[in-house]
Amino acid sequence: MNSSAREAVRRTLEERRSRARVEQAVRIEEISKKVPQVIALRKEMALTSVKLSRMILEHKADLAASLEKLKRDNLSMQEMEKDLLRRAGYPEDYLELHYTCPLCKDTGFTEQGVCSCYRKLEQEETLQRLSDSSPLELRDFAGFDLRYYDQTPDASAGTSPRELMTRIFDYCKNYAETFTPEAKGLLFSGATGLGKTHLSLAVAKRVIERGYDVLYGTAQGFLSAAEEEHFSRERSHQTMDSLLRCDLLVLDDLGSEFTSAFSQSALYELVNGRRGPMIVSSNLSIKELQDRYGQRIVSRLLSKCVYMRFLGRDIRQMKK
Ligand SMILES: [Zn+2]
Repeated sequence: MNSSAREAVRRTLEERRSRARVEQAVRIEEISKKVPQVIALRKEMALTSVKLSRMILEHKADLAASLEKLKRDNLSMQEMEKDLLRRAGYPEDYLELHYTCPLCKDTGFTEQGVCSCYRKLEQEETLQRLSDSSPLELRDFAGFDLRYYDQTPDASAGTSPRELMTRIFDYCKNYAETFTPEAKGLLFSGATGLGKTHLSLAVAKRVIERGYDVLYGTAQGFLSAAEEEHFSRERSHQTMDSLLRCDLLVLDDLGSEFTSAFSQSALYELVNGRRGPMIVSSNLSIKELQDRYGQRIVSRLLSKCVYMRFLGRDIRQMKK
């Protein structure tokens, strides 16, 4: 996680603590009108520590007995408070601070170390940032227009682009509806403007709606985020972890990114290390992918994905 993400987590925790205090103040205000005796009791209890230090300073002869009495009084006042609240129809802890995470009182840390809520925030923040960096709004299936694809048979495919794309469209729709993290991945290949990004984002949107964790973005965006983190001062692995762990990873436009030794090995780690499926789209052919990334990555990718070659003419050009 980079420093600005860590800063965001720290701010969230701070907001939670201050919200807990504000909400408590509101409840105290309410009780001071409805059950004023409780507030009087709380004032009395707040004096306990003052009384305690006075006793110690005064070196009273019967210090032990006085302390014992102070403790008893305090406990009985606590019981009275609970009792008064209960009888007025309130939960007995109504005036306590109510933290989002009672384990660490919204500090992010417990005696055992980093709290699970902190880890969760860290993960959410990383997911959020990765999704924000996606270049496109989420698209849906309804917005995918098959009429842009030619009905004349294509000699190399033995079918028309429209027919082929209808099959791919139906397959993707069904894939999204029946998605589980055990599903196979999808590999979309074909020229620019044939709807690869649109379809992969339509799948992503539906899978998100069905409650799964989805990360979508360009190969360039993801790999450079991972690289930046890897070479940062903390040498963090948060982005890579999120990419490896999410239920569905949509890696758009593979092959257009700037290649470095790091991005090559990160890509290998992703393709190899991910248990869940990924949707990869690329303007490159299988042959070109092999030339660029090597046989090993590409055959691993092909073994984990259903391969689909998109056909047709550039839709973005036609729309203009
Ligand atoms: Zn916590």
